[in-house]
Amino acid sequence: MDVLVLNSNFFAIQITSWRRALRLVSLDRAQVVDEEYRTYNFDDWCELSQVISENASGYVKTPNFSIAIPEVIALKFYDKVPMKEVKFTRRNIYEHYGYKCCYCGKKLTSDKLNLDHIIPRSRGGKTDWKNVVTSCFACNLKKGSKLPREAGMELLIKPARPSMNPGFNIILKSPVKVKTSWQKFIDNIYWNIELEG
Ligand SMILES: [Zn+2]
Repeated sequence: MDVLVLNSNFFAIQITSWRRALRLVSLDRAQVVDEEYRTYNFDDWCELSQVISENASGYVKTPNFSIAIPEVIALKFYDKVPMKEVKFTRRNIYEHYGYKCCYCGKKLTSDKLNLDHIIPRSRGGKTDWKNVVTSCFACNLKKGSKLPREAGMELLIKPARPSMNPGFNIILKSPVKVKTSWQKFIDNIYWNIELEG
């Protein structure tokens, strides 16, 4: 059973196992969050577990103990959003500039775009976010190994390092099913995972 972990500002930051989630709550480092955003410490949650008749994620049962498995917990002392740097890859560069030529602004498909060193490599230009932009073939040819101003060109779109991604998007790539109870906490994130019924 996966449990969604929020930071103390209720921003979704990761997914964890129910074992770790219950351990965090029992150590008072996290609280259970219900659908109405109410929070419960371990004792409250244990008590509530005895009276709720149905729990979507099931229960942990021992001979003299039964506790509902939470679907969402919130950390009490962690308010950061882990950030991940956007990797400097051809795909990320194309996406960063919206598949547009940074010189003429034309939007093109990836097979009609090139990467261009603003300061040519032959003149010591670096291969990084500040010096590499997308360019159409025509602009690329026109610029050649000159500086933009030498070629009488100007960058319509200025080079920039992309802002960091919230680290939570890593789960998009893992085979995790998004529970309906998680949805309200992750609406601000782009999802393309099928909802669990
Ligand atoms: Zn162009």
